[in-house]
Amino acid sequence: MEIELTAPNGRRWMQPLGLFINNEFVASSNGQTITSVNPTTEEDICSVYAATTDDVDKAVAAAKKAFRDPSWRQLSGTERGALMYKLADLVAEHAETLATIEALDNGKPYSVALKENVPEVINVLRYYAGYADKNFGQTIDVGPAKFAYTIKEPIGVCGQIIPWNYPLDMAAWKLGPALCCGNTVVLKLAEQTPLSMLYVAKLIKQAGFPPGVINILNGYGREAGAALVQHPDVDKIAFTGSTATGKEVMKMAAATMKNITLETGGKSPLLVFPDADLELATTWAHWGIMSNQGQICTATSRILVHESIYDAFLERFKAKVREVSVLGDPFDENTFQGPQVTRAQYERVLSYIESGKQEGATIALGGEPAPQKGKGFFVAPTVFTNVKPHMKIFREEIFGPCVAIVAFQTEEEAIQMANDTTYGLGAAVFTKDLVRAHRVAKEIEAGMVWINSSNDSDFRVPFGGVKQSGIGRELGEAGLAPYCNIKAVHINMAA
Ligand code: ADP
Repeated sequence: MEIELTAPNGRRWMQPLGLFINNEFVASSNGQTITSVNPTTEEDICSVYAATTDDVDKAVAAAKKAFRDPSWRQLSGTERGALMYKLADLVAEHAETLATIEALDNGKPYSVALKENVPEVINVLRYYAGYADKNFGQTIDVGPAKFAYTIKEPIGVCGQIIPWNYPLDMAAWKLGPALCCGNTVVLKLAEQTPLSMLYVAKLIKQAGFPPGVINILNGYGREAGAALVQHPDVDKIAFTGSTATGKEVMKMAAATMKNITLETGGKSPLLVFPDADLELATTWAHWGIMSNQGQICTATSRILVHESIYDAFLERFKAKVREVSVLGDPFDENTFQGPQVTRAQYERVLSYIESGKQEGATIALGGEPAPQKGKGFFVAPTVFTNVKPHMKIFREEIFGPCVAIVAFQTEEEAIQMANDTTYGLGAAVFTKDLVRAHRVAKEIEAGMVWINSSNDSDFRVPFGGVKQSGIGRELGEAGLAPYCNIKAVHINMAA
């Protein structure tokens, strides 16, 4: 169930290929597999078992049994926290291997995986490990005739479905609060990037989690994902992915009235007012759309700039892209931008670039494929100008290194343009005027607003969207609420 892999950086490891059910790696019931492709070289990495609906049944049964088993159910919060701390320590010990797998399978720069993604997993696990014995109910004064209190209980079996853009981080965001509250989990990985979390599965066993508490499945969304969402023994679904799939998940979950948390798409605005520090705004605006190959749900993909500084901002932004957005092999330490994750995503991004051209936008920079040594799903960082609000590139999530830069005249117009979207995930505001900063933050329809930065989310701060960007919050203390029920207990004290 394992093969030895070697990466271009020389690192070797034993890669699990199975479905992780009951702390064991097993083959899929009909032997089906999905081949993981290295997006940098377009070569196959390995074939990984992909769950059938029968396999989903097995994983859910394991999670259901584990939820009732004293080895998990009777643990105190402190003991659950200790297991999570242990897992975080093991992730830290295996940081280089995990970062290597991520660079190989996803195409993100190794340095980013090592310095940002693996530490995020460790931080999130430790943060929620700390909460495991500090998340309790209340006593409520209702007068002398009655005593009332609440208990926070785990919800049960949680089905968690994650995307391919941050395979490790997204898994940690979901596992952390679920385990903290005492739930059991069936985690469905994105079929494009299963390798890093299957390696973490080994560490889960090593940390000492009882069998069935965490089950991890690779598999197709329409098969394994849909089976998980529809399963009558799954009590909750947490999903991160596209808005279109999120809507399908919501519909399917309705049949059994599951508790749901959804984190979906975005088309986040970044507003630059005339008094902004232009260098600061340019630096964050670049980071906000070009990091992670533009594959970020909160990417600030619409930059709205006051007309008086539009030309100056555009010149600086293009210079920043030329200076910082170094394309190349994810294992090269100078690389800022690797390939898009798959051929399908690469073609999707290129088709948006084509639509921008056809609808009359100007390509101020990039706008073409950028293979490295003739290979890989690389797209040149692309800047559109002359963009009109009706254009697809202004309205739809491209999920690639492409940004529209548009001018506005008044604050009112900037807010109107910022809110002219079905999405409501993030937003960024650049100004030195404190009053304006808070006024605009209040007016923008988004779950998160960054003032004088972009996309510097933090595991201690709630993350999530409004409108069609999602339901519920992850991270921070708010991230606990979706993973526990509040039970009210009434005690009659009257004679
Ligand atoms: P993308 O199109 O970028 O792959 P998706 O939102 O479709 O984004 O995928 C996010 C996650 O949702 C992945 O794990 C995928 O397998 C899963 N998924 C896709 N379709 C479904 C579905 N119909 N039901 C449940 N999960 C799904």
